[in-house]
Amino acid sequence: MNTAERTQTKTNPFVDLFELQKIKSQKLRKGTIKERKEKLSKIKDWVTNNNDLIIKVLYNDFKKPEVEVLLSEIQPVVAAARHAIHNLHRWARPKKVATPLTLFGATSSIHTEPKGVCLIIAPWNYPFNLIMLPLIEAIAAGNTAILKPSELTPFTAQLIEDMVSELFDADEVKVIQGEVKTAQQLLTLPFDHIFFTGSPAVGKIVMEAAAKNLTSVTLELGGKSPVIIDETANIKDAAEKLVWGKFMNCGQTCIAPDYVFVHASVFDTFEDELKKYIAKKYYKDGEVNRNDYARIVNDRHYTRVTSLLEDVVEVGGNISFGGTAEAKENLIEPTIVTNMPESSRVMQEEIFGPILPLIKYESIEEVISSIAEKPKPLALYYFSTSKKNTNRIIKEIPAGGVCVNESLLHFTNHDLPFGGVNNSGIGKSHGYHGFIAFSNEKSVLKQRIGLTSIKFFYPPYTGLVNKLTRIIAKYL
Ligand code: NAD
Repeated sequence: MNTAERTQTKTNPFVDLFELQKIKSQKLRKGTIKERKEKLSKIKDWVTNNNDLIIKVLYNDFKKPEVEVLLSEIQPVVAAARHAIHNLHRWARPKKVATPLTLFGATSSIHTEPKGVCLIIAPWNYPFNLIMLPLIEAIAAGNTAILKPSELTPFTAQLIEDMVSELFDADEVKVIQGEVKTAQQLLTLPFDHIFFTGSPAVGKIVMEAAAKNLTSVTLELGGKSPVIIDETANIKDAAEKLVWGKFMNCGQTCIAPDYVFVHASVFDTFEDELKKYIAKKYYKDGEVNRNDYARIVNDRHYTRVTSLLEDVVEVGGNISFGGTAEAKENLIEPTIVTNMPESSRVMQEEIFGPILPLIKYESIEEVISSIAEKPKPLALYYFSTSKKNTNRIIKEIPAGGVCVNESLLHFTNHDLPFGGVNNSGIGKSHGYHGFIAFSNEKSVLKQRIGLTSIKFFYPPYTGLVNKLTRIIAKYL
């Protein structure tokens, strides 16, 4: 760290830790791929051996059902570690690339090197998964890391801290728990990379702080992910899949289906099927089956989501299913709303809760231009049996990722880059793409000794050199 940086961070309680990691990160450059794989195996084994602990802390944090924890917090982490262990040698191998004729005799390759000391800031909604996946990617790429879990899920944050201190020395990976102030103190340090997952509003703060040190960033943000059900869609299939995608984790998923455009010709059928599936999947004896349904994470978010429901009523929208809430349990019923004006809060804000607005449409042009007026979504879900319509939607609507006749599941394929566009995110993660996010792709050109083609263009710039240069400027 230089003198200016030292002065700037003099009062920062994390400077010493940062310095220690800086020294370690230099040592890690000399490490082997085998060592990185051993660290990934340690993480994988710890997670595999401690499923019950992970299930318990997520229950304590927001009563997340066991199957949802296994499916969305544990399995993706184990699979990501396994995928990285399996592929790391290939990912990290220098890649030969072509060399132009003007550089005849030279060879070119891309070498990946660790970025160095990384900061990973995570949200509360998948509090284990969303800190562990970037950690796996950071370690696969040979970095050290400081992790800042969300303060809103304290049981999970503590478990992550316990796990990390059992598996790593602080100079390699360290968890720092704390609230906004802690995150802000960390953000002043000159990290080599910051991987942030959270809201677009905080993403801007993170990017501004990173700019002061010219630190690279991956921003995994959120926003409104739309669904389109066209006139050719298989309605039962779409309804069943969307009920799961929306109400899993009580709607608190960054890529949750946020609102649904339904073609007018199938609107009523779709609405009926949705209601049937919600009742079948989430209700028992006329009541929400509490064992299979997570809660809203805390009172603040409970108030935020119930105030969205109040707004639905105020602006003349219709609660077509659900709509009740129980403050002492932070429980909000799976809810469908219809007839929502575009200016309503559920159509303007990221819902991040179990409310699903349905919007009737007549022509796909209306839908395309309505989505285009909003910030580019993190995910787009299209339900259709028409190849032509599907190709059009993939081509014309910008989005971080698309699922056709499905929701959420593009997240689970480690061979697909995951991330948003502009307001929904900057940079990509998962598998090789995450490895690259935490690596510097270093260009290496190796030249031969003695005569090289470029020497023909050295000064003095005689008439012949000038002619030759004109030829290559035109043709090569
Ligand atoms: P958040 O942005 O409020 O908080 C995320 C993290 O940032 C937390 O660790 C928090 O302590 C920290 N933080 C909060 N305010 C800060 C500030 N002023 N300065 C520095 N750090 C600060 O997000 P959240 O409420 O935890 O999560 C919900 C949001 O995250 C939603 O918008 C959701 O769509 C998004 N999200 C995105 C992804 C993705 O992969 N793209 C995944 C999950 C959640």
